[in-house]
Amino acid sequence: MVEVRRTAVVKLDIGDSDATLLHETIEEYLWACNYVVQDAWKDDYKPTSKTELHDRTYSDVREQTRLQANLVQSARNKAAEAIKGVVARWQNGKMASQPNFTTPSVRYDKRSATFHDDRVSLSTVDGRVEAGYVLPPEGDNPQTEYLRNDDYEVTGATLQYRDETDTFYLHIGTKAEVESEIPNDGDAGNSTVLGVDLGIEQIAVTSTGQFWSGGYLNHRRQEYERVRGDLQQTGTESAHRTIKQMGDRETRWVEDYLHRISKAIVQEAVAHGCDIIAFEELTDIRDRMPNAKKFHAWAFRQLYDYVAYKAEVEGIETTQVDPAYTSQRCSRCGTTLRENRPSQAKFCCQKCGYEVNPDYNAAKNIGMKMLRAGQKSPHGGATRHLALKSGTLNVNGEYSPADQ
Ligand SMILES: [Zn+2]
Repeated sequence: MVEVRRTAVVKLDIGDSDATLLHETIEEYLWACNYVVQDAWKDDYKPTSKTELHDRTYSDVREQTRLQANLVQSARNKAAEAIKGVVARWQNGKMASQPNFTTPSVRYDKRSATFHDDRVSLSTVDGRVEAGYVLPPEGDNPQTEYLRNDDYEVTGATLQYRDETDTFYLHIGTKAEVESEIPNDGDAGNSTVLGVDLGIEQIAVTSTGQFWSGGYLNHRRQEYERVRGDLQQTGTESAHRTIKQMGDRETRWVEDYLHRISKAIVQEAVAHGCDIIAFEELTDIRDRMPNAKKFHAWAFRQLYDYVAYKAEVEGIETTQVDPAYTSQRCSRCGTTLRENRPSQAKFCCQKCGYEVNPDYNAAKNIGMKMLRAGQKSPHGGATRHLALKSGTLNVNGEYSPADQ
């Protein structure tokens, strides 16, 4: 048995006065997160231990906010993770500045929230607020699979406010114990990996050479932003209503589009007999993609969740690998070249002369990373292959000539 964790995103049905309370809670929660960080930044030495941060800030935050003890602890934990992240980057010789929390969200656990089948009760700055779930009809969706499924236990949730649509969402974390579906657990059979690269121009590219353009998505997004800007200028009540309706429609449209891409990626994996779909690590993805907006980070996360969900049904595992050098490495000869910037229109290997689309090159490298990770696994007998346009590639072997 293995533990799997899944997230289901649910829109909340909230009245105006309760919405005001949630806004005030978010505001004070963000203030608390920032207070803890600012306190840690007083000295050169940055404390990362939760206990130490607690001792330094807890009573101040309790005094200066109306947050319940559990939310004060939650804010401190969130700040502690951010501080740890910065210290880790420094230790790796990378740049990182003082964290500043602005994204309107609050992390709840089972003490600060009570989860029911159709609604949640959330701790606020003034008592609790009950919010109904706006659930899609039962069917092939994460809400049905994880929330309405007794095998999955709710672990906690993150409340998020989306400014563009004036809506609150709850990202509900769940977990379950399931039978391991990783094929090499049993008789050490072969397994095949599909590598997937994510990006802005091409939202997804596979190691088998399938491309899904992000152009249409980016265009719709810009168009929506433009109209929203115009309506905001008007500032009337009806303009506000129109923005909200447009936002809801736009979110549904984008989610539907991502659903279709995820379906196609899983079909691609099935068609090539893959057992594993490997993505790059999604954490910090915006640091690696200077042009990526918050929207892109959201879309990538959403796409990954959809793929993971659909792949699981097919008995395919979905995973994330360390993205280091996947854009600079030549997927043919393995040379890592600093000069190869991901922004280049073409990846040109200065050693072997391989010229290839950079996203496709990265997708193959992401798959290769998964192959190499497999070599270190205790299942020594298993051999992993990377799915390419035609045929596969062994971790030690040469690239198939059909893939040039
Ligand atoms: Zn090369």
